[in-house]
Amino acid sequence: MNAFSKSLVLACMLVNAAVTVAGEHMKPNIVILATGGTIAGAAATETQAGYTSAEVGVETLIKAVPQLSELANVSGEQVANIGSQDMNDAVWLQLARRVNDRLAEDEVDGIVITHGTDTIEETAYFLNLVVNSDKPVVMTAAMRPATALSADGPLNIYNAVAVAADPNARGRGVLVVINDDIHGARGMTKTSTTDVQTFVSAERGLMGATLYGQNRYYRRPYRLHTLDSEFSITGLASLPRVDIIYISAGVSPDLIDAAVANGAKGIVTAGVGNGNMTAAALAALERARKKNVVVVRSTRVTSGTVGRNIEIDDDALGTVASGELNPAQSRVLLKLVLTKTDLPADVQAYFDTY
Ligand code: ASP
Repeated sequence: MNAFSKSLVLACMLVNAAVTVAGEHMKPNIVILATGGTIAGAAATETQAGYTSAEVGVETLIKAVPQLSELANVSGEQVANIGSQDMNDAVWLQLARRVNDRLAEDEVDGIVITHGTDTIEETAYFLNLVVNSDKPVVMTAAMRPATALSADGPLNIYNAVAVAADPNARGRGVLVVINDDIHGARGMTKTSTTDVQTFVSAERGLMGATLYGQNRYYRRPYRLHTLDSEFSITGLASLPRVDIIYISAGVSPDLIDAAVANGAKGIVTAGVGNGNMTAAALAALERARKKNVVVVRSTRVTSGTVGRNIEIDDDALGTVASGELNPAQSRVLLKLVLTKTDLPADVQAYFDTY
C-alpha cells in the first residue's frame, strides 16, 4: 500500500469512528434499575415450573438483549434483588430516590425498572405519585424466568427501553410495558397467576401498545401524577402503616380490631360488591374511626368503582370511597395521603384527584 492509500484508509477509519461517536451521542441514554423478580429468575431446567426469583444481575439482563444498543445507550444499576413479594416501604423509598436522582442528570433521558409482577402495580403507582420528572419511567417484568423456554423477559426489556427512549412517552406518568402492552401505572392489575398475558387496565384501558419497539399511544393519564403530584418523599424516613382487610360473607371484625391494636394508621377494606361488608365489620370500622384511624373502602371485585354513600353511609361513618382504585393501590395512596392529612373529607379529595 502506498503512502496515499495508507492516508486514505486512515482518513476513512477516522470518519467511521467519528460517525460512530456521533451516533452514540444521538442515541438516548437509558438507565436500567434492576430490583429482581421473575425477569431475573432462574430454574434448574428450561421447562421446570418451580424457580427462584431474583437470581440474575442487571448486567446479565442487559447482555441477554444485545439489540438494546440499536435503541439507546443502556447502562444498568442493581437497586435491589428480591422477589417482589418482598417489596416494602423501605425499598420503595430507596428506589424512588434513585429514580429522582438519576432523572435529575441532564444526560439521562429515561429509566427502565425491572421488577417482579406480584407487586409491580403497587410500586408503579407509588412512583407515579412521587417521581418529580416528566422523563419516561418505564417498569417491566416477566412471567417466565430468564432460563425458561420462551422466556418473555428479553422482549419485554427491549420494548421497555424502546418506550423509555421515546420522547412521546414523556408526561404520561410511570408506565408498565409488558407483553406488548403499555399500561399507565394507575389502574393496572395482575389478573392471572401464571399466564403471560396477565395485566389488565380494566377501567380506562391501555396507555398504548408496542411491537418490537414501534410504539403507539392511545391516551394520557386522567389523574395527577409525577410533576403535578403534591406528594414528595423528601425527608421521609418511613411511611405510615396501612393494613388491608379482606371481606367475605360472615367476616369477623377481629382482624380490623387487631390492625388498630397493632398500630395501623389506615385501613383499606377489600369489600364485597360496592365496598360492602357485614354489620359487625362496620361496627369495628366505627371503633377504628373513634381512634382516628383512616378507613378507605375498596372492593375485592376486579372492575367498577366504589362510590360514596351507596349502601354504606360514608358521611355518617367518616369513611372514604376508593373510586376506581383497587385495595393494593388504595393502600399505596393512603400511605402517602397520611403524610399530609387524616381528615376524611381531605382524604376523599385526594382519592378523587390522584
Ligand atoms: N414472585 C415473582 C415476583 O413478583 C413473580 C414475578 O415476577 O412474575 O417477584
